[in-house]
Amino acid sequence: MKQLLIVDKREYLILNEDLTIAQTSALVTKYAEFSEQVSINQDIRLGFPEFVGLEDTLTNLLEKEESNFVLQSITRHSEDNSSLYFDIDIKNISGQLIVFFEDVTELMTLKQSLLQQVNEAELLLSSLKRFEECTNKIIASMGEILIIVTHSGKIERINKAARKLFGYSYSELLDRPISQLIVNQDFEHRQLYDAYNNSNESVQKIELTCQNKQREEIEIEFNFSIVPTEIKGLFKCIYLGRNITERKRLEEEMSKALEKEKELRKLKSRFVSMASHEFRNPLSSIMICTDLLLHRERDISEEEYDFYLNLIKSSANNMQSLLEDILVLSKAESTKSAFNPNWLDLEEFCSQIIKELEIIYQGRKINFTKVGSSLEIYGDKKLLRHILTNLLGNGIKYSSQEESVDLKLAYSEAEELITLEVCDRGIGIPTEVQKHLFESFYRGNNVGDIPGTGLGLSIVKKAVDLHGGTITLESEIGVGTKMTVILPKNSNF
Ligand code: ADP
Repeated sequence: MKQLLIVDKREYLILNEDLTIAQTSALVTKYAEFSEQVSINQDIRLGFPEFVGLEDTLTNLLEKEESNFVLQSITRHSEDNSSLYFDIDIKNISGQLIVFFEDVTELMTLKQSLLQQVNEAELLLSSLKRFEECTNKIIASMGEILIIVTHSGKIERINKAARKLFGYSYSELLDRPISQLIVNQDFEHRQLYDAYNNSNESVQKIELTCQNKQREEIEIEFNFSIVPTEIKGLFKCIYLGRNITERKRLEEEMSKALEKEKELRKLKSRFVSMASHEFRNPLSSIMICTDLLLHRERDISEEEYDFYLNLIKSSANNMQSLLEDILVLSKAESTKSAFNPNWLDLEEFCSQIIKELEIIYQGRKINFTKVGSSLEIYGDKKLLRHILTNLLGNGIKYSSQEESVDLKLAYSEAEELITLEVCDRGIGIPTEVQKHLFESFYRGNNVGDIPGTGLGLSIVKKAVDLHGGTITLESEIGVGTKMTVILPKNSNF
């Protein structure tokens, strides 16, 4: 038996039937509550109070050989505050009760620290869960758009606000490239990623035109940033955006209004300078002539009398035609009802106008040629008259007395388009002013004393527009000008 106990290596006590100690191992006292009470023939209950109340159990044990009884995790506290944990294993070996003591302090400490770590991990996990829930709630309730994409640009997460704005469900966007939502041709997620990495800014601001499921465009201002993931070297990209469509629209409207107002101011100053010229000259002629006729300080011959009256009449006519031009323009600008089309023979119409102009501009010649057979047009007679008289009138006005003006009329059957080409060999138009010529009251800087109001071409442009046509010009200083008007044969289609 002694051999057996040595092999076991545990501290032990051998008990007599009356629970007194029969034998002990050398260091067994370290487990006793009262070590001084542990000695041969002493009752075990004095040194180990745990045995109080176990009398029946031990008697039973003595009757059943090979059985045992175990007391686990008994604790002893020493004065230095350290703890000793041990198990007691009571065995009946060959009719004797042997009490084994096993030091489990290390195991218990390990267990306790493991338990503590598990508790701490659980606490951390639950606080992480709460934090995640809270973050999810914030993301779900925020008005901003949040799109989280992989570093290669695939959508991983998209919040409620973004789904609502784009009109897609979660599954429709998951794993799709972010570029699917963006219209800008030059947008590349990778470029933004690199730009972020190369800058010192914590966010990269970018305005992008996006598109919803209904293919409507939405302007969004994004704050782009990159955040590391739990995997080292792997990053996620955050697109945090605001819908700025309305702001952009207002900005655009404002800049258009400003542009218009600038345009109006220019128009006003051009009108003032034209009016001061074009009204003052005929007005002063009228005043001087009427003064002369009214006060008759000297005898006025019949011829002089007629001369002054004619001057008054032609000055008043000039003013009237200027006012008419302004009225035509404002009417054409204000409403489409200015357009009243009817079928008319354009060739005959042109010949008639040429006759009238050759009477007004005595001694000037207009060469008329035509290409194509059907020269009927469904157009507005008044507006067509404005187009022809202004273009031909300018051709005559801006070229020398001896030069003629060409009018070419052509019809392309395939396209059903009529071309009116007025060509002169006059002063030409400087390239830099050509783009302004169709603005009201605008005059070229090379007109010198040639009278004019700067209204003719804007009337022509409006008339051409109302017919759904186009007007272009080619001109070279000192060589001449070619004005080309293309009109649909039937502007109703
Ligand atoms: P206006 O002739 O009364 O000044 P228009 O609107 O008809 O007004 O023409 C605007 C300007 O375009 C003219 O002032 C002139 O500078 C230029 N222009 C128009 N037609 C011709 C032309 N055939 N040759 C040279 N300049 C022209």
